[in-house]
Amino acid sequence: MSDQSRDRFSRRGFHRRAMAALGGALADGLVQGAARAAAGQHPAGKYVDIHVHLTQDWVAGQAPLSTEALLGWMDERQVAEAVVLPLVSPESWHYMVSNDWVFDQTRAHRDRLIPFCDIDPRATYVKGKAIGRMLDRYIEAGAKGLGEHKCGTPIDDAGNLDIFRACSDLKWPVLLHMDTVRNTDEPGLPGLERALQAAPGATFIGHATGWWSSISAVSDRKELGGYPTGPVKPGGAVDRLMEKYPNIYGDLSAGSGLNAISRDPDFGREFLIRRADRLLFGTDYLAEGQQVGQFEFLDRLDLPADVQAKIFRDNARRILNR
Ligand SMILES: [Zn+2]
Repeated sequence: MSDQSRDRFSRRGFHRRAMAALGGALADGLVQGAARAAAGQHPAGKYVDIHVHLTQDWVAGQAPLSTEALLGWMDERQVAEAVVLPLVSPESWHYMVSNDWVFDQTRAHRDRLIPFCDIDPRATYVKGKAIGRMLDRYIEAGAKGLGEHKCGTPIDDAGNLDIFRACSDLKWPVLLHMDTVRNTDEPGLPGLERALQAAPGATFIGHATGWWSSISAVSDRKELGGYPTGPVKPGGAVDRLMEKYPNIYGDLSAGSGLNAISRDPDFGREFLIRRADRLLFGTDYLAEGQQVGQFEFLDRLDLPADVQAKIFRDNARRILNR
């Protein structure tokens, strides 16, 4: 065997062993999740928050949110666990909230803080097998899903679809921010539908104005960037896609999520009950002192106990395998 082929052989062997270990780690995670669920061993609290951010002190003036402050707020608001989302695209935030920083900040609190990772499809060399290798690194660091995916491309951009396919292979949740700048689409969300078809193993979680405006029929592309008021018109893409695809969920966080269920309160309550298996409590909490209307509004609706349990925590634990 030449030195060159020996080197190639041993590298391949190393890769195979590494992949076997990774597969074992994934299987262990699933077993642990099921065991924890069966034993009811989750941190105390009424909610799992599918959408928070840790943020740094930065010149642009937005108040930061430290790990300690986030955990303190979670205790106050009865939030047992929260998904902490990086922001890696230039359109997503005024500085990068990197994957590595989110892993570092959450490392000592993984019983309550669940890190996701993200990849921008426009980054150099993000294609083909490289995506799988990047995700392997993030899995080793603790990532449990992709998001907040918030890049300035169409939702069905070829690079996005490659990333979603890799998440489909991992059976991962993918949290999408959609509006008229990030993950753009047309009225009726045909681009999102192409993504759902391309990555049937992924669990997509819709967030932001592009997704939530589509709870109602949308005729003008501009509406995908707004907070429409008044009665929900029949024919919305949210219900159409939920009916047709089992792998699309809705994230109730932020002004967009709250607006969707409060703009037409009768529809909102009926929608929450009808889609109780597909909706996830969330806040988009990212700064100390931030007002979050979701707690009070959802309390006021006085939803049936089983609907509350699903939306507030059980759906999230199911898709996170916890
Ligand atoms: Zn967010």
